Amino acid sequence: MQRGKLDIGLISLILVNKCVDFVPTIGKTILGVYLTFYLGCTLREGIKKPFPLSEEQLEVIVKEEKDKLNMQEEVTLLVSEPLAAQSCKVDGRYFIELGGRARDRDTVRHELYHIYKRHVDKEFDPIRYFMLQEPQAIFYEYFNIKI
Ligand SMILES: [Zn+2]
Repeated sequence: MQRGKLDIGLISLILVNKCVDFVPTIGKTILGVYLTFYLGCTLREGIKKPFPLSEEQLEVIVKEEKDKLNMQEEVTLLVSEPLAAQSCKVDGRYFIELGGRARDRDTVRHELYHIYKRHVDKEFDPIRYFMLQEPQAIFYEYFNIKI
């Protein structure tokens, strides 16, 4: 009996020690993979598009991409010259702002997905944004995967 308890105690101790070693490694690995993924996509974003689309082209794309997501929400498109890519909700209305080199279909898909998933309805939380909402939008933008 005593011996059994000692064994369980020892095994627990070893497991806890292993876990303590293991957790930071897993955390670092996840963070490393995430940062590589995020920076890779951001870098690709910066180098891929030499010709920003016009407002008329973007209006058509917003409609096409909304249909793909079966979205009923009214989304107002704001087009600017300086680089901009954001979606927001103001007074119950949804907006997408696209500017500079972000005036393309990929960015429309990305920003629409933030609206589709109701990310813009919530209070901004940097942890939730970088660890959940942004990867979701990037996965949809690049791989057409809804998560
Ligand atoms: Zn985003």
